[in-house]
Amino acid sequence: MTRNGIVSQVRPEIRNLTVYQVKELDSDIIFADKNENPYDIPVALKKKVLDYALERSWSRYPPIVAKDLYRRIAEYTGWVPEGVVAGNGSDEMILTMLLSFLGPGKKLVTPTPSFAMYPYVATLVGADTVYVPLNHDFTFDYDAIEETFLREGDMLVICSPNNPTGNLFARERLERLLSMSGKPVILDEAYYEFSRVTALDLVETCDNLIIFRTFSKAFSMAGLRLGYALMAPALAAEIGKVKIPFNINFFSLAAAATLLENRKELEKTMGEIVKERDSLFEAMKTIEGIVVYPSSANFILFKTGYESENVFEKILKNGVMIRNLSRNPLLKNTLRVTVSKKEDNVKFIESLKNAMNELREG
Ligand code: PMP
Repeated sequence: MTRNGIVSQVRPEIRNLTVYQVKELDSDIIFADKNENPYDIPVALKKKVLDYALERSWSRYPPIVAKDLYRRIAEYTGWVPEGVVAGNGSDEMILTMLLSFLGPGKKLVTPTPSFAMYPYVATLVGADTVYVPLNHDFTFDYDAIEETFLREGDMLVICSPNNPTGNLFARERLERLLSMSGKPVILDEAYYEFSRVTALDLVETCDNLIIFRTFSKAFSMAGLRLGYALMAPALAAEIGKVKIPFNINFFSLAAAATLLENRKELEKTMGEIVKERDSLFEAMKTIEGIVVYPSSANFILFKTGYESENVFEKILKNGVMIRNLSRNPLLKNTLRVTVSKKEDNVKFIESLKNAMNELREG
């Protein structure tokens, strides 16, 4: 390739990015690595969506603005339909929101470790990221976040529960940040249905607060890509201009409508996951040599005295894929496991015990 080849003309900050990676293995192993829902959508509900898809013309565009979905989301969340904007996964909402507020010379403030997609997208839009490390026990360093955001941030993102640590952001500190800064704050509540803690009511009085939610986790719809943001209606009108039109396909819209209508059924499995998370946590705590961090989400972070790669490989050999997080130096020796169905959690616990025994014996 020549120096003036096409690749060298791509913006350098894009060329320097490491591609966002997840391992994909096509086999019958237990996937406990991507915080997905272990329960698929009930077949009867899938059939409803398929029947609709058979009848509906595929040659016609979906609605340019998903008004019907916005109305249903408003009814589910208790927010107003004019304050809803949805996208092709919350990942698309991250891009839309960062494009709306950031650009070259602007700064996104984020705690670290947290969801890596935010700094990744900040780079895409030409903005810089200012990282505020979590405390050693992975709690938020509230004073440092506040000081950094007020001093130099143009936007702040907080995931609550935080991914990968599972802890919640204190409401009173959020209120302080919102009123002291007046600048945009994204509160990513992707795991809300497992924590049942929200700051949505604050949007009423704080027009700089933007709440993110998703259908990928509790609603088992990761494969169909649908996420949304809740905000002040005046802001939603602006953000709607940035979003690419027609970007939610009719199939995903129909699936979301069906799931929201039948959410009582899904709430049972959400409850099951929360129960399993708590028993998994208790079981992990009894294993010698690991530190487990309390979680309000559908995953659990833990630390061992060994290289994460070794723990990861040993657990994978037993048929369970979890996430090795050690690429981030602040997450040395840590791994994250997604809560699965009971029998799979039992398998995971067994593999973790075996892995720890083997490592101890050298
Ligand atoms: N926010 C957080 C905090 C996440 O952990 C994830 C998924 N890992 C997302 C957003 C992305 O969700 P979606 O599938 O809706 O793009």
